[in-house]
Amino acid sequence: MTTIATQLQTVHARITAACLAAGRDPRDVRLLAVSKTFGPEAVAEAYAAGQTAFGENYIQEAVEKMAALSHLPLEWHCIGPIQSNKTRLVAQHFAWVHTVDRLKIAQRLHEQRASDLPPLQVCIQVNVDGGPTKSGVVPHEALALAREVAALPRLALRGLMCIPEPAPDFEASRAVFMRARALFDQIRSEGLALDTLSMGMTADLEAAIHAGSTMVRVGTAIFGGRSYAAA
Ligand SMILES: *Cc1c(COP(=O)(O)O)cnc(C)c1O
Repeated sequence: MTTIATQLQTVHARITAACLAAGRDPRDVRLLAVSKTFGPEAVAEAYAAGQTAFGENYIQEAVEKMAALSHLPLEWHCIGPIQSNKTRLVAQHFAWVHTVDRLKIAQRLHEQRASDLPPLQVCIQVNVDGGPTKSGVVPHEALALAREVAALPRLALRGLMCIPEPAPDFEASRAVFMRARALFDQIRSEGLALDTLSMGMTADLEAAIHAGSTMVRVGTAIFGGRSYAAA
């Protein structure tokens, strides 16, 4: 077995163990393999080991990778910050975007999503731990933004996403993820049909699963450490 295949197995085992510890069904947590900075060969290797959903942060890098791998039925998720001048590429090339945090970006994605493609699947990024310069809508504005996104027919609102700062331990980490979970439950109780809570990475996926994550975004534990200089 290749290294990537072995590491994917290890990540699946972590997800399963975390679900069992939390009394959840492991089938309710999807794995998004974060392939930023890694080349098409690494993605193809993960695909050969059964992985089909991939997350990318840098739009240009992602589009090149997609072109190199267009023969494979891969599902691409945009998980990086989106500038207005990049929305067209996102709308044209991705199946999902996890980082919508303002209406202007949502409207552009809606206008630029071709009608022959399925609606773009959207998660709203929420700044759950409050850094003023961080991406993500502030929690008390998430419901209003969710309603606005849900009204755009070329977008399909699926849920919330968050990237909390690293926490000192499991309990602290879980407490922050629980804020995203509470917001998710609140928005659902307002009648919006969210089914996706995108949270948890290599370092904190257990705490995120405990708090109700339905999609963990894992890079390092699958592909190894990243060298940003090479990106
Ligand atoms: C890079 C990245 C990940 C993966 O992080 P790892 O710690 O390598 O698992 C997940 N989500 C986002 C938004 C990222 O930018």
